[in-house]
Amino acid sequence: SNIVAIVGRPNVGKSTFFNRLIQRREAIVDAVSGVTRDRHYGKSDWNGKEFSLIDTGGYVKGSDDIFEAEIDKQVELAIDEADAIIFMVNVEDGVTGMDEDVARLLRKVTKPVFLVVNKVDNGKRAEDAVEFYSLGLGEYYTIASINGSGTGDLLDALVDALPEVEEQEEEEVLPRFAVVGRPNAGKSSFINALIGEDRYIVTDIAGTTRDAIDTKYNRFGFEFNLVDTAGIRKKSKVKEDLEFYSVMRSVRAIEHSDVCLLVVDANRGFDGQVQNIFWLAERNRKGIVILVNKWDLVEKDHKSTNEFEKHIRKQIEPFTDVPIVFISALTKQRIFKAIETAVEVYKNRSKRIKTSELNETLLPIIDNYPPPAYKGKFVKIKYIMQLPTPQPQFAFFCNLPQYVRDPYKRYLENKLREIYDFTGVPVSVYMRKK
Ligand code: GDP
Repeated sequence: SNIVAIVGRPNVGKSTFFNRLIQRREAIVDAVSGVTRDRHYGKSDWNGKEFSLIDTGGYVKGSDDIFEAEIDKQVELAIDEADAIIFMVNVEDGVTGMDEDVARLLRKVTKPVFLVVNKVDNGKRAEDAVEFYSLGLGEYYTIASINGSGTGDLLDALVDALPEVEEQEEEEVLPRFAVVGRPNAGKSSFINALIGEDRYIVTDIAGTTRDAIDTKYNRFGFEFNLVDTAGIRKKSKVKEDLEFYSVMRSVRAIEHSDVCLLVVDANRGFDGQVQNIFWLAERNRKGIVILVNKWDLVEKDHKSTNEFEKHIRKQIEPFTDVPIVFISALTKQRIFKAIETAVEVYKNRSKRIKTSELNETLLPIIDNYPPPAYKGKFVKIKYIMQLPTPQPQFAFFCNLPQYVRDPYKRYLENKLREIYDFTGVPVSVYMRKK
C-alpha cells in the first residue's frame, strides 16, 4: 500500500490527527536511541483504500538551529519515502517562519502535498486560515483533529491522489520473499551468500548499503523474488536516520511480500526494534521465518540453540508457530535451509482447503467441544469455509457469532494449525452470521 507522511512543527496537532486515523493498538512507536524522538507508523484506510501513515513528528529538543535542521530532515525523509505528504499547520499560531521553510521545501515536490490547517473549530478561525495561502501551496484543508471535523474531505482527496497499487498478473507471480531486519543484521550478506556474488558491498559501517532492489532468484529448483530492504541512503549519516530509513523500507517491503525473512543478529538478540518488524509482518498477515544470523560468532554449548529459540518464542506469543533457523551468512551455514523453510511457509500460506473437507473434519471436533454458552445462549456452528483471500482466513457460520469469545477462536485456530499445518503463517478466524 501507499505511504503517507505527516510533517510539520511540533505541537500543531500531528499526533492527535495520527491517532484519530489509525487504531491506536496498531501503531508502532519507533523510539530511536533514547528519548530524542519518536516516530509512529500505523495503518489506515478510507473508502476501501489502505495506506500506511507515518508521523515523522519527532524532534530533538535543543537550540533552534538543531531544531530547524531536524525539521528539514523530517521533510526530506518524507519527500524521499512517501507517496503523499500531509503538511500540518495550526491556525492558532498563524504562519510561522518554520512553516515557511517547510513550505519552501514542499513547493518543489511533485508528489501530492496536502496543506492542512488544524484547530479550525469555528467560523472566525476558518476566516483566519486564509493567511495560509501565503505559503504558496494552493488550496488548503481545514480540520479540527480534536473532534475529527473536516477530516472526511481531506481523506477523500488524499486517497484519490494516491497512486493505484498495481495488481500483478496472477499466473506469473513468483513468491516474494522480503529480507527484513535491523541495519547490520546481515541482510545484504545473506543475499550475497545466496546469490553467490557480491551484488552488494558489505561493510562494517551501519547503513552503507543502498536502495531496496528486487532480485529474481532461480537456483536449486527454487524460483522467487527477493525483496531486499538493506538499502539505506548514504546521505543519512546519523544513526537514528538509518534506523528510520530501514523501518520505512521494511514497511514497504513487507507489504509487497508473501513471506518475510526476518534476519536477527544473534549478538543483539530479539530486541524491541526486531519485534516491531515482526509484528508489522504479522499484522500484514505475511508468512514469517526468523533467521538468527551470525551464529558462527556465538559460543555454543548443547543448550544454546534451545535457549535462544525459547527466548524468541516467548517474545512472539501467542503467534509462536513460526520457524526459526540458525544461520551464518558468512560461512553460508544453513542458508539454503532458510530458503527451503521460506518456500514451505509460502506453500502453507497458499494452502486452500476444500469446504467439504473442512466441514467433515472440523464439525465433529466442534461437536465434541462446542463454544461455551454465553449469557445462557448456546452457539451452534453449522458451516465452515475458507475465504478466497491470498492468506488463510476461515469463516465459521453460526447462529450467534457475537457470543464466540477470543479463547474459543484461538482454540479453532490451533485446531486448524494442528490438522493442516500453517507453520509461519498468521491464520484468521471469523465468526459469521448464518
Ligand atoms: P545489513 O545492514 O543487514 O545488510 O548487514 P550487512 O550484510 O551489511 O552486515 C553487517 C556486518 O555484519 C558486516 O560486517 C558483515 O560482514 C557482518 N556479518 C553479516 N553476516 C554475518 C555472519 O553470519 N557472521 C559474521 N561473523 N558476520 C556477519
